[in-house]
Amino acid sequence: MTFSLFGDKFTRHAGITRLMEDLNDGLRTPGAIMLGGGNPAQIPAMNDYFQQLLAQMLANGKMADALCNYDGPQGKSELLDVLAQMLRSELGWDITSQNIALTNGSQSAFFYLFNLFAGRYADGSSKKVLFPLAPEYIGYADSGLEEELFVSTRPNIELLPEGQFKYHVDFEHLHIGPDTGMICVSRPTNPTGNVITDEELIKLDALANQHGIPLVIDNAYGVPFPGIIFSEARPLWNPNIILCMSLSKLGLPGSRCGIIIANEKIISAISNMNGIISLAPGGIGPTMVCEMIKRNDLLRLSETVIKPFYYQRVQQTIATLRRYLSPERCLIHKPEGAIFLWLWFKDLPISTELLYQRLKKRGVLMVPGDYFFPGLDKPWPHTHQCMRMNYVPEPEKIEAGVKILAEEIERAWAEA
Ligand code: PLP
Repeated sequence: MTFSLFGDKFTRHAGITRLMEDLNDGLRTPGAIMLGGGNPAQIPAMNDYFQQLLAQMLANGKMADALCNYDGPQGKSELLDVLAQMLRSELGWDITSQNIALTNGSQSAFFYLFNLFAGRYADGSSKKVLFPLAPEYIGYADSGLEEELFVSTRPNIELLPEGQFKYHVDFEHLHIGPDTGMICVSRPTNPTGNVITDEELIKLDALANQHGIPLVIDNAYGVPFPGIIFSEARPLWNPNIILCMSLSKLGLPGSRCGIIIANEKIISAISNMNGIISLAPGGIGPTMVCEMIKRNDLLRLSETVIKPFYYQRVQQTIATLRRYLSPERCLIHKPEGAIFLWLWFKDLPISTELLYQRLKKRGVLMVPGDYFFPGLDKPWPHTHQCMRMNYVPEPEKIEAGVKILAEEIERAWAEA
């Protein structure tokens, strides 16, 4: 039995697959300290809310309705209407339900979008997706139907007080040409917690417009929901922007619901792709979030429960890190959003891949940095000096993990 070229590409045991298996094995290992994965927190107030909402929706028949019927390929019409209405009134965007499509998780939205705008074109030309600032989300890396679909640009690094730093888009070296099919940026960024500034975003938007290509903004953690963003950042949308959102970081990753906001031509393309690939997106997440919007709970809970929870957790984790690791040993990317801290062990005598292996042996899982540079064309030592940690686990677990991390860092320096 042989697989097609598509089969070969998509059944590959990629580095990231191995890593995800590690994370999964870790979940089943008693005592393992899981600071690697991307699962959102179980926030008690949100879990209670979802339980009650589900119970009420079971009692009033809305859940049965959602389970027993297919939605259209664009996604649940009722949600498209109330969401468009909410975004119009909250953010002043000129959109209707014709500007929104749902997908089974935003991960599949990226698969659609990357392959819609990059790859081979009818005129024989070939285009790529440009990540204007690497490090970028690991989940993009293997989602091209064709090889080498991505290019990315190294950031400028601004050093900040208290052992922190921040990445900025290096516009001087950002190359956009006839072979650029789209620009894509996560804001807030997984893995770094960076939020590119309003000025940077406006500049990227202008460049995309100028070159007649779309700008994709991955807003999985952003505003107005789930609101895991701690810096001032204005949400931006216009018909040249494709904004991707998700219910996952609201606390509903199992609902597999992604939301695309774009111009009507793109929404119609996504609907057709949904029809071919999955008939229709699942209806459970959409029906829940529709009810949340109607009850005025979606933005209220994002602002008053989700954001404060993560803010408190991240501050506490930074305090813990600093108890064990000085700025000379470990720089921390300014935490502006998302659910990770990005640690930079400048001049560390070993690579963070080796550090990852040593930590894994001691039951601590974090993700080494070099996975997060999809499309970077030249080697860059920085990629081997960074590590991503999830700051969601309970503070005691974080402290136990950080203690072991600090011991391994000291060991690496002692060996040098
Ligand atoms: N984008 C970013 C930046 C993410 O971190 C994730 C998941 O962790 C996703 C997209 C995909 O999320 P989902 O498919 O659950 O909507």
